[in-house]
Amino acid sequence: MKFPVIKTSLPGPKAAALIDVDRAHVSPSYTRGYPLVAEKAKGLWIHDPDGNVFLDFTAGIAVCATGHCHPKVVAAIKKQADNLLHMSGTDFYYTSQIVLASKLARLMGDGNNKVYFGNSGAEAVEAAFKLARWFTKRELNIAFFGAFHGRTMGALSLTASKVIQKKHYNPLIPGITHIPYAYCYRCPYNMSYPQCGMECVRWVEESLFRTTMPPEEVAAIFVEPIQGEGGYVVPPPEFHIELNKLAKKYGILYVADEVQSGMGRTGKMFAMEHFGVVPDIMSLAKGIASGLPLGAMVARSEIMIWEAGSHASTFGGNPISCSAALATIELLETELIKNAEIRGKYLMAKLGEIQKTAECIGDVRGKGLMVGVELVKDRESKKEAPEWRNKIIQRAFEKGLLLLGCGQNSIRFCPALTVSAEEIDLCLSIFEESLREVVNNK
Ligand code: PLP
Repeated sequence: MKFPVIKTSLPGPKAAALIDVDRAHVSPSYTRGYPLVAEKAKGLWIHDPDGNVFLDFTAGIAVCATGHCHPKVVAAIKKQADNLLHMSGTDFYYTSQIVLASKLARLMGDGNNKVYFGNSGAEAVEAAFKLARWFTKRELNIAFFGAFHGRTMGALSLTASKVIQKKHYNPLIPGITHIPYAYCYRCPYNMSYPQCGMECVRWVEESLFRTTMPPEEVAAIFVEPIQGEGGYVVPPPEFHIELNKLAKKYGILYVADEVQSGMGRTGKMFAMEHFGVVPDIMSLAKGIASGLPLGAMVARSEIMIWEAGSHASTFGGNPISCSAALATIELLETELIKNAEIRGKYLMAKLGEIQKTAECIGDVRGKGLMVGVELVKDRESKKEAPEWRNKIIQRAFEKGLLLLGCGQNSIRFCPALTVSAEEIDLCLSIFEESLREVVNNK
């Protein structure tokens, strides 16, 4: 059994020296919550340059699905690197991209799909945005408050997570209307599920489409199956079914942004499978290639009919990233999706136990290993406790556990899908200790 090892003050001297150089030369736009310098890593364990060892429940922002440096992924990368580093799928053909495209295409719905490759989540969303316009020839789009779809100008226009992400970047792309997400813990309509009758969907047709947004001019609804950056918000079971029905009624495309929730993280290959909806278009990235840069946009074949030259990117679908993705998908299918489901249930149950005696845990929610905990001053008022959230994450880091926040006042648990029950126990004992110290002002 491994444990975190913290042998210096944090950051240690070597990490501190690197951070000084970073401060001088790296863009200050990044948001580092605590000073972790990752030197090497295996599974869920990260070593810093000073010999400190951390338990990683962030997976590099939900990316390292197979754990850090999984031997099968590393072997696939090395093999591909010996043969072909780059040729650009924009102008040429190569095996790994073709094999991956046929694999990904077969994973969504009836398998009659085509795949566009980019390098990131934002690029996958950007491609979906452009394809939706191209196909429908419509100009308007719907996205959600709390949504995070990336930071390129198109994806950013769809994003509505934190205002800092948009400040000074206007004007963005016009024609996007943000609407409230099905965030039942804080229902934007002050109703409660299931008596609400899915007011959040009904409102779209009965208010939005009647007053300001002609539905026949709407190209697509962009939606995260489970909101990620927005707070790991799980909508009720009918939400996507009802919204997709509404979209179909008006010829609107349903675009599922599975960048964070996809690739097995929720205990199914794609989170939308939990809701029984097959989208028209899906964006993928993060966990797809275990840490190598890759984004993919999967669309039904009858939708992806744009012509040669209409969209492409030099590096998109790099051979090494595609080989890493193929090795990743094989691991997901043979063992890790199942593990995510089993360990996710265990993690949720254990957090539920902690919640019983921790008044500051307002809500525990999630699917598989996409689990969020919302921190409140007390359960009655549900007043958000972002300062406690930040302090708990900081305190956990000092004890050797890596966590990330999401939303205004939530903590996300998104470990590698290889996580063991012992690693979950360890994570939760550090989390609980940190939480009690912070809340009791120790
Ligand atoms: N879409 C979702 C749902 C995400 O969570 C993210 C990143 O967190 C993105 C898109 C953007 O991905 P990237 O940072 O790779 O551009």
